[in-house]
Amino acid sequence: MPQTVPTIPFLDLQRVNAAYEPMLSDAIARTVASGWYLNGAELARFEREFAAFVGAEYCVGVGNGLDALTLALLALKQLRKWEDGDEVILPAMTFVATAEAVVRAGLHPILCDITPDFLINPAAAEQAITPRTRAIIPVHLYGKACDMQALRTIAERHGLALVEDAAQAHGAWESKGCRVGSGEVVAFSFYPGKNLGALGDGGAVVTRHADLARHIRTLANYGAEQKYEHRFHGMNSRLDEVQAAALRVKLPHLDADNARRQTLAAIYSREIKHPAVRIPYGGATDSSVFHIYPVLCKHRAALQQHLSAHGVQTLVHYPHPIHRQGAFAGLCPGSFPVAEQVAAECLSLPISPVQTAEETHTIATLINQFDYDA
Ligand SMILES: *Cc1c(COP(=O)(O)O)cnc(C)c1O
Repeated sequence: MPQTVPTIPFLDLQRVNAAYEPMLSDAIARTVASGWYLNGAELARFEREFAAFVGAEYCVGVGNGLDALTLALLALKQLRKWEDGDEVILPAMTFVATAEAVVRAGLHPILCDITPDFLINPAAAEQAITPRTRAIIPVHLYGKACDMQALRTIAERHGLALVEDAAQAHGAWESKGCRVGSGEVVAFSFYPGKNLGALGDGGAVVTRHADLARHIRTLANYGAEQKYEHRFHGMNSRLDEVQAAALRVKLPHLDADNARRQTLAAIYSREIKHPAVRIPYGGATDSSVFHIYPVLCKHRAALQQHLSAHGVQTLVHYPHPIHRQGAFAGLCPGSFPVAEQVAAECLSLPISPVQTAEETHTIATLINQFDYDA
């Protein structure tokens, strides 16, 4: 088959950020001119604005999403006197950071399976609880919120913490009037490709608990509440002023950007009609902010090749569930059939606020022309 130059990239970050010019460059120039680059006014303002946006009391900007998860777990571990090796339950299908944070906090990851909507299965999570379980990490994968009502009931029944991984769900709604981020403690990443992306690494923890927010800030600041008074072993994890200023430019447009993603998802879900390709969520497009638009196909490699040959770049999120990763296979063994099937069949189609309806239509048409016996 003839290879053509990709005309539709998976994600065109240059185009994404060009939509915010000249405001982004102005914000950077303003920060450079200020002479203040860490822990300043831009961070304080972004923390206030992001907390208000998601409906949380407190926001602590940190270096990245992995740090946000790690610091949330470490702070809970210290405040609630968890022990090394205590257990944290998470879905087998997620980005590796979710599991890595548990290990970095000195806790033990326990996996459970997901539902066909790619989210932690609350019943499976409850079955994985042991006397050493301290927390569950719901991951709002691909931009859709987990069943938080079911998970809160389980967490309350067993006295567990819920630490949410919202790295793919900025602006998503958990239920009517209740955004992802309004929970007990929720970790976000501002990696450039996320729905709210910085111009480099960034992350945040939001929470409604003052003591937790304060302790996370202390741990992220070398364990010091006051300069050179180090009460705890901490780390250095900061959301810098340039990133905070850039995020403040983009945050007011997040809802419109997410609505645009949903419009494109609706085109995919309406137009993709192929016996070997399954669209997500049975075609519903109102309950996800579509960080990823995943389709399932038993002939994934052939479908990816077909799209690539016609200039459409796709990616796989993710090719291996956690228990099949080298670093975790020995640590968390088990069999998680839904996660394994999704990892084997999922394909992420291009989607972003700057993608056109025309491009989306072209991709849907190409998928419908996919001939897997060819
Ligand atoms: C991106 C991501 C993270 C990690 O964020 P970084 O900022 O890259 O450290 C964690 N969990 C999930 C589900 C993610 O998609």
